Parts: sequence; structure tokens; C-alpha cells
Amino acid sequence: MDIKNPGTALSLIFAEIKSGTLPKTFLVEGKDEASRRLAARYTAAALMCESDDVPCLECAQCKKVMEGRHPDVTVVSAQEEKVSVDDIRKVRLDANISPFEAECKIIIFDGAQTLNVQSQNALLKILEEPPQRVYFILTAPSSKLMLQTVDSRCAKFSLGALSKSDVYRSVCEFSGGASESECLRMCNAVLYLDGFVPSEKSIGQLKEAMSICDEFYESGVFPFHRLPSKKEDSDSLKLVLKVLSLYALDLLKGKKGSTDKDGGLLSSAALSGAASKLPTRTAFYQYGFFCELYERLEENANVAAVIAVLRSGIYD
Ligand SMILES: [Zn+2]
Repeated sequence: MDIKNPGTALSLIFAEIKSGTLPKTFLVEGKDEASRRLAARYTAAALMCESDDVPCLECAQCKKVMEGRHPDVTVVSAQEEKVSVDDIRKVRLDANISPFEAECKIIIFDGAQTLNVQSQNALLKILEEPPQRVYFILTAPSSKLMLQTVDSRCAKFSLGALSKSDVYRSVCEFSGGASESECLRMCNAVLYLDGFVPSEKSIGQLKEAMSICDEFYESGVFPFHRLPSKKEDSDSLKLVLKVLSLYALDLLKGKKGSTDKDGGLLSSAALSGAASKLPTRTAFYQYGFFCELYERLEENANVAAVIAVLRSGIYD
């Protein structure tokens, strides 16, 4: 996202600011964390901007907002730190104090979907009776991830689906210096994974899951010691199983000769290693097996039990 090509949602927000009709409370939704953050920041700049064509990004107000030093713009980053009910109460007190230098105050809740139920309920109290001259901007991958009561209080601006190049860019950003081909394979996986939101944490988990699957499909021996095996690891194990099923599917497509050039997940070492010797029948069986175990975890099956089944059935 860049300011010269802001996309429909941001253009709409800027237009509403110019006409003075921007709702006081709204949610910016979109799968890409960086884009959501930037959209909230641009919106704050546009609200504070002194020029006619907002946001100019050149006036003193715009600069202060973009550099994170505007005294009337508060960012609460729920994504990065745990936000308690007390923190929300502090925000509420702060919202009732008049702006320092601008006409309005802006409070951004970044990653609002990670607020727990109590904090969202505390937030709801502010949203129900918002102080005058205060804008509340919430950001989340989807408004559906918020409590319904909070969701219904907010107007919505959707940043739209991510393009492949957007996904590739955020994968590279969060990959911790992975190679170009590794990033491309991760990008392909993200595009297959429904509801996957690229972030430093999630890309780290995906990298590990793919590395486990690589080892299996390259050597033919499953690295059980690398599996996340604690009770609270259910989501990480689900990701490994999902990626395993995608690999098996990819292998089946490859056997049918229908893999597109840059659309694959399997590493070149896997394609020339154990995976190349795997009979179609086995790949087919594995695909169903991994999907089945994934479904079991979705239904809250015990992590250790699922690993035990994986152990007993993976070479059948
Ligand atoms: Zn400006």
C-alpha cells in the first residue's frame, strides 16, 4: 500500500474526512498486518492534516503522526502487548481530556482482535458513549474476530484481499532473512491457507512447519522429535498437518504433471529426494490421513493422541 495508490477503503476514508462524515468509531479490516497499521496511521494523519488535500504527509501535523510523536494520537498495540481492563480504563480517562494541540484526539487499537473478552467489554463501554472530539480506530484481520457487540458498534472499512505480491512482501519482511525460493514457497503456502495472517510470529511458525515437512519429504523419515507436542501446541500441530496435506496434494499434482512453475510448495531437494519415489497411491493416502488428523484437532482432540495416530499410520 502506498499513499499514491491508496485503494478503495482508504480513498473512501479520505473522502469522508474531507466531507466531515467520517464515523467516530470504525474498524479497518484486512489480512495484512502492515497494511492495516499503515491505513490507521494514514487515517490519523488525514484527520490531523492542515492541508486541503488530506493527508499531505508534508505538514507538521502529518509528520508528527507518521513519526509516532503526535501528542493527540495514541496507539494501543494489542498485537504486541497484553492489554488489560485497567489499560482500557486508562485509555478511557485519557480520552476525556481535551486534545493538546489538534482539534481532535485519535485512539488506535492495533490488533484489536487479540483483546480478551473482558478488555473488549471495557472497550465497548467507551465506544457506547464516545467523548466528543475523539476518534477510535480499531484494526483487525476481520471484524468477525471481534465480539459481536463491539463489531456492531463500529463502521467497517475493508482493505480487500491480498495480492500475491503483497503476501510475498510481508513473507519476506517477517521471514528472518530466508532465501528468495524459500520465501516464494512460503508465499504459496500462505495463499493456500485460508485465514492465515502473515505476522512475525505466524511466519516463524510456518517456516518451522515447512522445515519439518521438508525433512520428511526429502529424507523419507518423519522427524517426530521436532513436532510440537504439548497440550497448548494444538495450533502449531494443526499448521504442520495442514502443510503436510498441502505437500501431499502438491506431490499428487506433480505426478499428474500439472504443477505450475512457481506455484509449488515442495523444495527441489524433496522433488529429487524421497518424494520422487513415493507411489501415487501412498501420496493419495497421506493426503487423506493428514486431513483427517487435522479435522480431529479442530474437534479438540488431544495433541498426544493425534501424534500417536500419526506415528502409527504415517508409513502405511
Ligand atoms: Zn498534512
